[in-house]
Amino acid sequence: MSNVAQNILEIKKEIPAHVRLIAVSKTKPVSAIQEAYECGQRIFGENKVQELCDKAEILPKDIEWHMIGHLQSNKVKYMAGFVKLIHGVDSLNLLKEIDKQAKKNNRVQDVLLQCYIATEETKFGLSEEELIQILKSEEFKTLRNISVRGLMGMASFTSDENQIRKEFKSLKSLFEKIKTDFFSSDSNFSEISMGMSGDYKIAIEEGSTMVRIGSSIFGTR
Ligand SMILES: *Cc1c(COP(=O)(O)O)cnc(C)c1O
Repeated sequence: MSNVAQNILEIKKEIPAHVRLIAVSKTKPVSAIQEAYECGQRIFGENKVQELCDKAEILPKDIEWHMIGHLQSNKVKYMAGFVKLIHGVDSLNLLKEIDKQAKKNNRVQDVLLQCYIATEETKFGLSEEELIQILKSEEFKTLRNISVRGLMGMASFTSDENQIRKEFKSLKSLFEKIKTDFFSSDSNFSEISMGMSGDYKIAIEEGSTMVRIGSSIFGTR
């Protein structure tokens, strides 16, 4: 069995059945994705639109492609026909463009809204106030071709487990609040995408429903 396959099977043992594993294959060759595919992995995450589209064209059509990186509006159209879930949506303008491109493709696009939970300055994402402002806006309510499936967040890059746990807890409680206030009758709003190679076990303990794991599967980049 390949290393990639072994890593996936090991990680799967750590993940409860209600949590989905997104295998983050950015920068890795198609051959590595094939190894993961052959051991049953079907969900892959990429952070560049061009790379995602190139790989999707070559690889089996039953793969679910997730866009996990920061996304520019002008790139949405290239993947709008097939991308399964867009994790990193962090502005109303981007939501509008995704809605427009989804409509052209006769689709309803699943998205997650990325929230800022880290203490670092560099991480993308919406503050709680910005998130609420978007959800309350009249423009948001007119978007028919997007389905907001939940929230996504990234913890600080630190070895301080308490800090990481605190940040994941804050995303979980924000999720509960937003669900109550804006999506109480929408069962589609059900996902919390949090947890990477270094912190996914903590994320799962704090309520993650999707973990995005790259280097622990495919090796360092
Ligand atoms: C690269 C990346 C991951 C995976 O990171 P690893 O530490 O390699 O598991 C997860 N989420 C996002 C948004 C990423 O860009």
